[in-house]
Amino acid sequence: MTLHIDLQAIVANWSALAAKAPGARASAVVKADAYGLGAARVAAALYEAGARDFFVALASEGRALRPHLPRDARINVLSGHIEGADLTGLVPVLNSSEQFFRDRAMRPGKPFAIQLDTGMNRLGLEAGEWSAIRAEALAAKPDFIMSHLACADEPGHPANASQLAAFRAMTEGCDVPLSLSATGGILLGPDYHFDLIRPGVGLYGGLPFADAQPVVRLSLPVIQTRTVQAGEFVGYSATWTADSPRRIATVAAGYADGILRSISSKGARLYAARTACPIVGRVSMDLITVDVTGLADIPAELDLICPAQPVDRVADYAGTIGYEILTSLGRRYDRTWR
Ligand SMILES: *Cc1c(COP(=O)(O)O)cnc(C)c1O
Repeated sequence: MTLHIDLQAIVANWSALAAKAPGARASAVVKADAYGLGAARVAAALYEAGARDFFVALASEGRALRPHLPRDARINVLSGHIEGADLTGLVPVLNSSEQFFRDRAMRPGKPFAIQLDTGMNRLGLEAGEWSAIRAEALAAKPDFIMSHLACADEPGHPANASQLAAFRAMTEGCDVPLSLSATGGILLGPDYHFDLIRPGVGLYGGLPFADAQPVVRLSLPVIQTRTVQAGEFVGYSATWTADSPRRIATVAAGYADGILRSISSKGARLYAARTACPIVGRVSMDLITVDVTGLADIPAELDLICPAQPVDRVADYAGTIGYEILTSLGRRYDRTWR
């Protein structure tokens, strides 16, 4: 079971997104182990390409990443300053006045950033809370002030313009770098770029960055093949029955590896180069069964994620989004970085 990760493609996607916002610094979001692809390797490759700003969700992720990046790399922690977190060498993005006062009391003079809520109602200071601490926060010189868009993957959604207006109003007169956009916001155009962009999923080849280079190939070894006769079933609960003699291959991976059981019977395929082989029956914990009748030769491995079936296609079959497929990719794969 091999998860091939193309670091050059990640760097190319980062550069392509950076080029869309020429006036802004491009950071890289590497939370959740770089969406499952290996934060240490991904961040080091992007540092090499010029990235100096990184985002993780948790202080523990930042602590794990810190030794892999030179000192001039800034690792920002989106959850901010949670009580008891070890933020040595990290930059918390403070999300409430409570976090602000805790952080300033415990880390006076240390770098921090501020997140404002502009309508998503998930993380960040709301307008009233911000007004109350704004003067004190600005006097302490935050590295940047950011907010996050709820609907940036839908360019026509009215929340984009209203969050943009709210962000402008709340940051008016702040002489501090500003950041609003993740991948989707970058694609909304220059109004949304400000000083620092925060691409995540687009680096890893996922939508909404439709022009991304493919990053992931997931190759699964064939363990066994057999012929089933018309009328025989395959797999748990006998959900699939052969209507003619079929050649069935069993590959070593399953829902324990993040291949969601919900893709069963939805039309997902495994690929032998360009040839599609339908998954038949239920995805089980460690195994998947595939109809390879159409193949002249059975290869040693079949691919689930590949250019012919990108991560977002797999996500469609599962009824989810590419982000969830990537971050579900299991620990049992051999990850190889090229
Ligand atoms: C995850 C996240 C990002 C990156 O989002 P993508 O859609 O993956 O580009 C940026 N900013 C914040 C606050 C996030 O939580």
